[in-house]
Amino acid sequence: MQPALVEARVRQGLETLRLRRMADALGRVCEAASKAGRSYLEVLDELIEVEQSGRYERNVEIKTRLARLPYHKTMAEFDYSFQPSLDKKQIANLLTLRFLEHGENVILLGPPGVGKSHIAVALALETITKGYTAYFVTLQHFIDYLAEGPEPVGVKLRVFLRPKLLVLDEVGYLPLSREAANWLFELVARRYERGSIILTSNKSYGDWGSLVPDMALASAILDRLLHHSTTITIRGESYRLKEKRRAGLFQPVERLAEAAAAAEEGGTDGPNPVA
Ligand code: ADP
Ligand code: MG
Repeated sequence: MQPALVEARVRQGLETLRLRRMADALGRVCEAASKAGRSYLEVLDELIEVEQSGRYERNVEIKTRLARLPYHKTMAEFDYSFQPSLDKKQIANLLTLRFLEHGENVILLGPPGVGKSHIAVALALETITKGYTAYFVTLQHFIDYLAEGPEPVGVKLRVFLRPKLLVLDEVGYLPLSREAANWLFELVARRYERGSIILTSNKSYGDWGSLVPDMALASAILDRLLHHSTTITIRGESYRLKEKRRAGLFQPVERLAEAAAAAEEGGTDGPNPVA
């Protein structure tokens, strides 16, 4: 058979077998191989590599989209020097994802802007890179999703039980109704020892009593959440405010006083201080 016919047949076969990337790369790889005198096995090896890496990239892309992350940031983009209370080794340990294998939880506590969601997102991206699924949801969205629509709560809950990693962000901004607290309990209890949760909160555990309508429920949730878990408390300044400050939008109190005094003297048109 003529080489062009064989190539067409092989391409057709690859497409039928749904090896589209191999089919697309066939001409290029074979031509380069014949010029370089590479063996049949080497050609096959390269074609399989093209298919595998293409599938992997597509897989990561789809899983990333399905995870509904608020932004895409990794720990490479994290400035540790700005957050000295954060133990870099502890984060490196989490990035190995051993906690996922054992269904352990990670709790990130601290005031707004210190990087809790950033770390959670970075761990979710790492999870996806390793071939697992992740899903990111704020507690408020979780509650709104379960509250609306005709489908039974048990069915809707599955969205949050399926992923290997669930990020539950912004726990503690609003006190929960009894119904919402029960859903949170259901979620934590059903993922317990099965699927990891990364939870972020501006509230320390002691304040959970004011978040959940009764103490028994609060401790039932915390009990399961904390049994196998790592807690990271970040005590630092807000990175958002640092950025504002750099842009001249935020001034420390003493600078505000100086600016006010200067303005009274009929002086400056310096940056407008906005807290
Ligand atoms: P929160 O603790 O409120 O969840 P985020 O993690 O969302 O705060 O951080 C707020 C913003 O600041 C994000 O854009 C995040 O990427 C950035 N950020 C926070 N801390 C750092 C840091 N140490 N280095 C780099 N970016 C940071
Ligand atoms: Mg956040």
